[in-house]
Amino acid sequence: MRSYTTASAVAVIAAFYSSAAATAQTAPPCTHPNALGVSRTVQIDTTGGPGFGFEHYKANDFLQPKEVVLTFDDGPQKYSTEAVLAALAEQCVKATFFSIGKMALGYPEIIREVAHAGHTVGTHTWSHKAIAKLKTFEEGKDEIERGISAVHRAVGGPVAPFFRYPTLIDTKESLEYLGKRNIAMFSTDIDSLDFKIQSPESIVKTVMTKLAKNGKGIILMHDIHKKTARAVPLLLAALKQGGYKVVHLTPKTAGTTVAEYDAAIEKDAKGLPQVGQERPVSAIVKTVEGDVPEAEKAARESAGAKAAPAEAAASAQHAAAPEHQETPAPAQGETTSETAEPEGIPPPPAEEGQAETVPGTHGQTEMPHGSGGTAAATGALSETSAAAPAGEPPAAKEGEAASPPAPAPKTWSARAAELWESWFGK
Ligand SMILES: [Zn+2]
Repeated sequence: MRSYTTASAVAVIAAFYSSAAATAQTAPPCTHPNALGVSRTVQIDTTGGPGFGFEHYKANDFLQPKEVVLTFDDGPQKYSTEAVLAALAEQCVKATFFSIGKMALGYPEIIREVAHAGHTVGTHTWSHKAIAKLKTFEEGKDEIERGISAVHRAVGGPVAPFFRYPTLIDTKESLEYLGKRNIAMFSTDIDSLDFKIQSPESIVKTVMTKLAKNGKGIILMHDIHKKTARAVPLLLAALKQGGYKVVHLTPKTAGTTVAEYDAAIEKDAKGLPQVGQERPVSAIVKTVEGDVPEAEKAARESAGAKAAPAEAAASAQHAAAPEHQETPAPAQGETTSETAEPEGIPPPPAEEGQAETVPGTHGQTEMPHGSGGTAAATGALSETSAAAPAGEPPAAKEGEAASPPAPAPKTWSARAAELWESWFGK
């Protein structure tokens, strides 16, 4: 019996882990009628570090007229990234997220949710330093590689070898380096200017005006802003109305990390299970008496359907649970990063010395990271337990968890409505 349950537990882990790879997603088919959807998925061979986005790299013109690519930088951020995900799910479209290493380590459950939803996760340095302004190439390399290692660690699996420079400004040396690392770089065709435009409607107008002129393009947005989160559903509606099609970018091969930098970010990753070692929370915590939460039921059903009998979860109880389960992640980063952003340059949300705004900063490891194991596992279950948003819900009330979740096809829609109302008001 023991060997049987162990094998089952391994099967659960394997099933979970195979779905954790950001570059090998098999997202559930879109069931929303009249959704915008993905018109085509392209696979990018990143050998030699090709560049995309005509603001900086005037080659590789792969988009057809009326085609757009949705990209989001600087996240993950609590609430806003989740709202963006809900809006994308509502229209069954896929995007590329250029995540900052520190942010990913601060909110691993959210970046995992991004990956699990089938979006492509690339990187955007460790702490959003403008590489062109750094004194040495080594500093730039450090920013790039730490970012990759951190996002990889937070996602719990490979990320796409896709990179976007903070402020979009590259350097000759770093370009050569990315080429040798076979990492593609992405500029933009359509800058939404969401870092300085204030209203969601204006963001949409800016994008649509530029699109009308350009006819197609890679759209740059930032999932750290509430206004962007509010703009995304409006933008998707406008794209649909305008006859635009969404193209999803995927890498031909997964990105790799450099061991030296994996080690360097380890202290910031404290509390996160090692890549390949994590288990869904349902495999760690099981209700044995009293009411079973809906999320737990859904997770059990999902695990059972995927791989293993329920005993797997029970056998996993004996393994060590992550520490500090009670510690919530902070949520101050959101407003700070918005107010701190300079004109024309996306904010550096993870500067040294601003530990309170950015989980994952030195000296803060015990706070957000302590919850990493649990939160990450919760994020891993997001597909089946949408009734419980990753991290602590901002307006969770006693008894809310007891209400049954909506049927699967409506879950994202219901969730999107709830999120916007509770976070941003009507
Ligand atoms: Zn940025």
